[in-house]
Amino acid sequence: MARRIVVIGGGVIGASVAWHLARREAGDITLLERDRLGAGTTWHSAGNITWIPGEDHILTLHDDLERVAGESGQDTGWLRTGRLFLARGENTLRSFRAMARTADAMGFADHGLLEPGEAARRHPWLAGEHLAGAWFNGKSGRVNPAGLTAAYAKAARRRGVTIRESCGATGFDIRNGRLARIRTDRGPLRADAAIVCCGLWSRRLLSALDLPLPQWGCQHFYIVARGASRLERAVPSFVCPDDLIYGREEVGDMLLGCFDEEALTLDGPHGAPPDDFSFSLLDGNWDKFAPYAERAAEHFPCLAEAGIRRFVNGPESFTPDGEPLLGPCGGIDGLFVASGMNSAGVTCSSLAGHAIADLVTEAPEPSFDPRPYDPARFGDRAGDETWLAKRASAVVSGHYRARLEA
Ligand SMILES: Cc1cc2nc3c(=O)[nH]c(=O)nc-3n(C[C@H](O)[C@H](O)[C@H](O)COP(=O)(O)OP(=O)(O)OC[C@H]3O[C@@H](n4cnc5c(N)ncnc54)[C@H](O)[C@@H]3O)c2cc1C
Repeated sequence: MARRIVVIGGGVIGASVAWHLARREAGDITLLERDRLGAGTTWHSAGNITWIPGEDHILTLHDDLERVAGESGQDTGWLRTGRLFLARGENTLRSFRAMARTADAMGFADHGLLEPGEAARRHPWLAGEHLAGAWFNGKSGRVNPAGLTAAYAKAARRRGVTIRESCGATGFDIRNGRLARIRTDRGPLRADAAIVCCGLWSRRLLSALDLPLPQWGCQHFYIVARGASRLERAVPSFVCPDDLIYGREEVGDMLLGCFDEEALTLDGPHGAPPDDFSFSLLDGNWDKFAPYAERAAEHFPCLAEAGIRRFVNGPESFTPDGEPLLGPCGGIDGLFVASGMNSAGVTCSSLAGHAIADLVTEAPEPSFDPRPYDPARFGDRAGDETWLAKRASAVVSGHYRARLEA
């Protein structure tokens, strides 16, 4: 009989994992979502895909984006706009030069270091006077996160995956150290393997087994601002690590986000919002965002007068080292997790799909080294909620620093 595999959680990660497992013909696969696909964090994601030389999983993602759109017939919204990396200071520019050298060594042509004036010519709102320089990287772009999730799910369904929405997992039955059944609010499901892809809620679900997952939720936000002129869709997105801001075009306006210096953690049990938080947002927090808007307006002066069309404050889960949790869970045979995406879950969806499919199928030649993502890497500290929340907040503010220093 085929191995019964249950993927729990229908965000971009669960949908990708289900598709990758189906591509490997791993067994009889069911994807469970307690609400509707994408209801958690995925629906309000900014959908940026940023390639940094050395982060090879982005190149795998590029292949997957093409393949999944072809298999599903669903538009993922993938648009290769390229990204302007903006440096205010010399130190940051030095990091960009190192990235450019790595890109050259990889034989990648579509990139280049730019003088401030050259950078400004690539973006109609950008004034270069606060810049030391910039690096343009043509491999970056964006997707529509809901579109990508639908594409993974459609392609998975075409390969035989059963998708059950409005069906929530409530616990697990373990026999002799092996996973036997998933308990759900619609009755039990026999399972030889399960992958917990519940985003912010993964820690809460696994607490039923007394397994503390090392992740915690933080507030994370962006605004959508209407400037002096409409932006073209193809205008490059940008990131300015010195100012902790990023942005891209959004229906002619600018989506402007930040990685907050003092990110607020969620205080709900297990660092997650309530279970019925589907398609929901936290309250806007203008006091928190204002300093970033001011810094952005120095680079994009028309933002000083811009009308704010939306404030999106969506929670997201972070891990103590900023790397996702992908792998076996709690020493229970058949139990895996793919969670804690550190505001890069759309970007990491291909990595998560490949890595979990490798582990579940015991692939002799895994696509990625799974060790940096081992969910057990923090040992007993995973049970220390004060430490976890503190680390999660620090990872938000250190997001760009970690990438520049890598
Ligand atoms: C403001 C903001 C901007 C972002 N921008 C980007 C970006 O530009 N690029 C990028 O790559 N990433 C970005 N992210 C991060 C990205 O959106 C997330 O990492 C990603 O959506 C997480 O996907 P997921 O599938 O792990 O979680 P989710 O999307 O939350 O999916 C988990 C699913 O599990 C379901 N679920 C929960 N419990 C159960 C249960 N017991 N049984 C069944 N189902 C259950 C939930 O309903 C939910 O649908 C951003 C995040 C935020 C908040």
